[in-house]
Order: sequence, then C-alpha cells, then structure tokens
Amino acid sequence: MTNRTDLPWPTVGESVANPDVMDRAWSPEAFHVLAKPTGAICNLGCSYCFFLDKEELYEGSRFHMSDNELDRYIKQLIDAHSSPTVTVAWQGGEPTLMGLDFYRRAIEVQNKYAEPGMRFENTLQTNGTLLTDEWCEFLKENDYLIGISIDGPQPLHDVNRVTKRGDGTFDKVMRGLRLLQKHEVEYNVLTTVNSVNGAFPLEVYRFLRDDVGTDWMQFIPVVERVDEEGHPAFLNGTSVSERSVAPEQFGQFLSTIFDEWVRNDVGQVYVQTFEATVRNWMGLPSSGMCVFNETCGLGVALEHNGDLYSCDHFVEPEYLIGNIADTPMGELVGSQRQYDFGMDKRDDLPQYCLDCDVRFACHGECPKNRFIETPDGEPGLNYLCAGFKDFFHHVSEPMDVMVKTIKAGQSGVPVMEYMAEQDREFATAMAEAGRNGPCPCGSGLKTKRCHGASQSEPDSAPDMPTAPGPPRPRVRDKRKP
Ligand code: SF4
Ligand code: SF4
Repeated sequence: MTNRTDLPWPTVGESVANPDVMDRAWSPEAFHVLAKPTGAICNLGCSYCFFLDKEELYEGSRFHMSDNELDRYIKQLIDAHSSPTVTVAWQGGEPTLMGLDFYRRAIEVQNKYAEPGMRFENTLQTNGTLLTDEWCEFLKENDYLIGISIDGPQPLHDVNRVTKRGDGTFDKVMRGLRLLQKHEVEYNVLTTVNSVNGAFPLEVYRFLRDDVGTDWMQFIPVVERVDEEGHPAFLNGTSVSERSVAPEQFGQFLSTIFDEWVRNDVGQVYVQTFEATVRNWMGLPSSGMCVFNETCGLGVALEHNGDLYSCDHFVEPEYLIGNIADTPMGELVGSQRQYDFGMDKRDDLPQYCLDCDVRFACHGECPKNRFIETPDGEPGLNYLCAGFKDFFHHVSEPMDVMVKTIKAGQSGVPVMEYMAEQDREFATAMAEAGRNGPCPCGSGLKTKRCHGASQSEPDSAPDMPTAPGPPRPRVRDKRKP
C-alpha cells in the first residue's frame, strides 16, 4: 500500500506550514481545512471526545452542511490555493452521518471548480462503524485516504470508545476496517492514548501492526482538561481527568513502541511521531505534524455553517475567525489575527522551553496543552513536557544514526543493524556483570535493581480492563448562569 506520509493529516490539525512563506509575509499559498459537515454530531459516545460537547456552541442547529455551504467551501478552498494540490479533509463528529450522496456532491463540486492541472486529496476521519460495501466502493473509486480510529485490542478499545448506551464498539470498528481492506481503500489508523491503553504500549502497537495489519499509525495523547469538580472545561481546565494520559506515561508509551519499531520495522511501518522526529532531527523545514513545528496557524477548522476557527482544537467562541459567507476563506486564513495565532506558538514559549536541549524536536508541542508551570513558576509549560523530554532523550542516539545514514544517501533502515549490534554488546556486558555489580546501562544502580530486575522480579504489568469506563460528565455551559 502506498503511504502518503507527507500529507497534512486531519486529526492533529496538521499544518502545511512552510517557514519560508511565513517569514516573508503571511500570505499562505496552501493551508489545511478540517471541515465538519455534521458539526459535533456523532453516532457514538466516546467518553473522552472533546467534540461531543461542542453541540452547545450551536444550540438548535441541524448540524448539517447545506449544499450551498458545500459549494461555497469548495470554491473558496480552490480560489485560495495557488498550489496544484488541494486537500479536502472531512471530520466530525462523525462525517459519514452526512450520507454518501453528500460526498458524491462534494466530488461534483470539486470537478466543477477545478483549475487545469489541479489535484484533490480527499481524506475522511471516521469511527468506521457506518461503513458499507457501497461506501467503500465510492471511497476507492475516488482515491480517498481514510483515517480510522481504534484504540488497541478489544479490552483497551472498549474502555472509552463506546456507543451512546455505553456498549463497546470494537467489533463494529473492526468490521468497517475489514471492509476498507477488502476494497483496498487506503487508510491510516489513529489511536488516542489515554491512561488505560497508555499502560500497554506493546500490546497496542503489535495489535495494530500484526492483527489489524496496518503500516501507518498515529498516536494522539488524550489531555482532557477539567475544572475543580471534574467537569470538562476545555481551555479553562486547571487539571486533567482520570482518563488523560500522564506525561511520563505518554513518554514511556512512545519510547517503548520506538524500541520495538527501531529494531524491527523501520521503513515498513510509519509511526507519525517517529517520522516527525526524524524530520526535525534532520532540520527539515516542517516536521509534518503541526504540534512539532515551531509555528502553526495554517490548519483551520470549518464548522457546518461556514464558521471558521483558528484550529480544530480551538473551536471556541474566542477563536472564531469569521464566517466564509461574509469573508472569503483565504482572507480569513491570511488575516493578522490568524497569523498571530500561529506565531504565538513560538513567541509564547516559557524560558524553560527556550533553554531546552530538545526544543528543536518538541517546540513546546501544542499550545492547547500548555497549562502548567515551569519548575521556577513561569506559566505556559506543556502538560506533557516530562514525557516529551524523556522520549526525545531516549531516541537521541538512534535518531543521530538515522540522520547520518539518510544524509549519506541511504535510508534510515541501517539503524536496525546498529541497534542489533548494540543489543549484542549489552547482552555480553550483562552476562559478565554480577548481580551485585553496577548495571552495564550506566544507571549507577546494582544490576539486580536495574536491568537484572526484570528477570528475577514478578511482572508488575497491570491487568487488561474488562469493562467500559464511566461515562463522561457533560461540560458546564459557560454562557449559562
Ligand atoms: S494549536 Fe497549533 S499546534 Fe496545536 S493542533 Fe492547532 S495548529 Fe496544531
Ligand atoms: S520538552 Fe518540555 S521544555 Fe523542552 S521544548 Fe518540549 S515542552 Fe518545552
């Protein structure tokens, strides 16, 4: 299967930022829009979904993009692009709730306004539960790239990805995924990493690689901000819910999967975070993930009624840039306000980040997660900082090796032989080290308390969950007394 690894990918609001363009002037030649034709409406009730509560932004709405809005959106998207490739990305809520005819019309509108030589990349992020043979035939015929959300094997997936009645959805999602495979529709897998599946990195990775059979995956951390009473509070939350992944846990999750990947799967399996890390390690202009770029602002979100927001993660009244019925989309994306939004990612970093040795790889990650204080009390540090620091330090050596081989005109694949050699040397050193001698890893601990411990102490891995977690409390409407 071909992978479009350079594509901006919807769920992380990935930007197609080109720093050269941004440095010259804010006149974006290509930007990325996540369109939500059903708004926040979804057929499922995943417990950590930050979009479900967004219904309250549009009380009384049908949450249905009209044909007029569709026409206006596609025309403006084309008008605003001077690049030959235009990405049309659909997300939700659950975008398949619009029905297949809506997407047939979308293709007709693209063809109506397409300029000579223009190419469209159609993408759709779905929970997969409503896919049918008819859907998949259409998606294949129109060369769609599908993102399908699955959180790991059944016990891990069903904890949070549930129906509105609270039943697990694993079987339904897998049925949709197998349909995509049967029809050879190109797809990627998106896994949200929460406090439960975050404890099972290898189980998740091996399930996706071996059982699902995917070769392209992305891991998105669940950081669900809540108020003092545990109610979701989006950008105003002062702490995080129990479902949220812990910073160190996320770092460990990524590092553990990286260790498996770098020994076995380089060049075969694409893990978006690792791809982005290699790109930043090489000093390329864009990591391919907005969260790991220095600036952002070129990935906007379009609601069903034409409202345009600064980013998929900032669909909040204070980040509404305008409505495309009043102001052309290109103008809104090119506005000073949106420029400032994108530059603030770089300009608002605390000193702790400016001094950080892995800033070139992390860039403070996404501003939505910057709500804790640095060790010296400065606000604006990323909640996941500790995890990212651990991860980027952990991968530093193999990254150096990959960059060296890639710059020498090879691929990154030889890193696997390098790791195998390292492992052989370490095994020899372990065999020679006594249980009471210093561990060969250099930790300063006795071997029996460090790398020798796992062979002699009972497995402390948690048990897999057996039932869905508690439902999510509704968000408090800030606009009501
Ligand atoms: S705020 Fe910026 S970094 Fe975060 S998801 Fe949006 S575009 Fe990406
Ligand atoms: S690892 Fe932490 S300190 Fe370093 S850039 Fe990222 S968020 Fe900032």
